Amino acid sequence: MDFELSDDRKAIVDGVARTIGAFGDAYWLERDRDGEFPHAFYEAVAAGGWLGISLPEAYGGAGLGVTEAALMMETMAGSGGAMAAASSVHMNVFGPRAIVSHGSEEQKRRWLPPLIEGRYKMCFAVTEPNAGLDTSRIATRAERDGEGYVVHGQKIWTSTAQVSDKIMLLARTAPRRDDAPTEGLSLFFADLDRGTARVREIEKMGRKAVDSNEIWFDGMRIPETDRIGEEGKGFRYILESLNPERILVAAEAVGIGRDAVRRAARYAGERVVFERPIGANQGIQHPLAASWSALEAAHLATMKAAWLYDRGESCGIEANAAKYLAVEAGFEACKQAVASHGGMGYAREFHVERLMREIVMLQLAPVSQHLALNYIAERALGLPKSY
Ligand SMILES: Cc1cc2nc3c(=O)[nH]c(=O)nc-3n(C[C@H](O)[C@H](O)[C@H](O)COP(=O)(O)OP(=O)(O)OC[C@H]3O[C@@H](n4cnc5c(N)ncnc54)[C@H](O)[C@@H]3O)c2cc1C
Repeated sequence: MDFELSDDRKAIVDGVARTIGAFGDAYWLERDRDGEFPHAFYEAVAAGGWLGISLPEAYGGAGLGVTEAALMMETMAGSGGAMAAASSVHMNVFGPRAIVSHGSEEQKRRWLPPLIEGRYKMCFAVTEPNAGLDTSRIATRAERDGEGYVVHGQKIWTSTAQVSDKIMLLARTAPRRDDAPTEGLSLFFADLDRGTARVREIEKMGRKAVDSNEIWFDGMRIPETDRIGEEGKGFRYILESLNPERILVAAEAVGIGRDAVRRAARYAGERVVFERPIGANQGIQHPLAASWSALEAAHLATMKAAWLYDRGESCGIEANAAKYLAVEAGFEACKQAVASHGGMGYAREFHVERLMREIVMLQLAPVSQHLALNYIAERALGLPKSY
């Protein structure tokens, strides 16, 4: 067993940190105020060649694994940019996996280079208001029409739809059957046509710079050549990308938590009350030490899940456990960082309240903590399926 990062992986962490070094606290605080997409950050990441870190070299990617992508996302989320930084690039890094695994050669040549170069931004539309976590209940339909499909229905929470050129869309192409509820769903990668898809931003608690939206489709046309893989098999394709996504968000939660602990430790060492640094009090130092330890454990769990995935081994239990642990540890770290700052923890200029607002979303998305535990209870403990 070797816990040391290889020189190549250390070089990735250092290289990412150098690429995004110019985007400090002031930049992210400003994006949190104005809600503007972090275009300059995104462009720097694309120019550094990082968007294609785990996409095939044949299309301009670096051909590395989820382990390297997770290290990159941890570095970005831990840079002060939190989820605003991570989510602005997350979709280009992780979203194209279904194209790589199930797209035709022509589709890969058409779509992957612009995604890797940052010329396309994509959004990922699965969640619907009336289906919730039960994806088999989605009702947006893509109906056959001549050479393609026509889409009607509604999605919710679709992130980055305000700035995306492309949409990865899961829609029904056949009615739901009780004996095979997840069959009949198809996956498309299409132009987001704003004439027939109305996009409305949802005001939310954090990650203001990366929009989330409701989308109403009223006759959006998709050519057949924009369907990924076989008709009706889209849910299976999405399932394959769930584990890498969980691993990446676990890494993001660890990055944010570690950033929060670093800030709190710095403040606790400097702030003097009752003639000594507040960090000399165990009520301040123990919660931070506990958070440090929990984040270290979550990081190791994340790296193990990534290692399994990159070896082609089953990693569902480990990926769900990593997501669960990292989000619990990251949230607790942010909470303790606010507490350690006293009143200034509530002031925006100290950034920890922003980190806390941003990490809350990972308790809910891309999958809730409840569902991660449901999976572990069923698969690791053999308990009855509860979802
Ligand atoms: C900021 C943000 C960004 C997002 N971005 C995207 C995106 O880009 N694309 C996209 O498609 N979606 C996106 N989502 C949606 C997200 O994936 C969903 O919100 C999430 O999957 C939960 O679905 P829901 O909100 O419908 O919750 P519901 O399904 O309504 O669940 C509500 C609550 O009940 C619990 N619950 C439900 N069933 C069970 C059960 N059987 N056992 C235990 N607990 C249960 C859930 O855990 C949850 O706490 C985003 C959400 C947020 C908040």
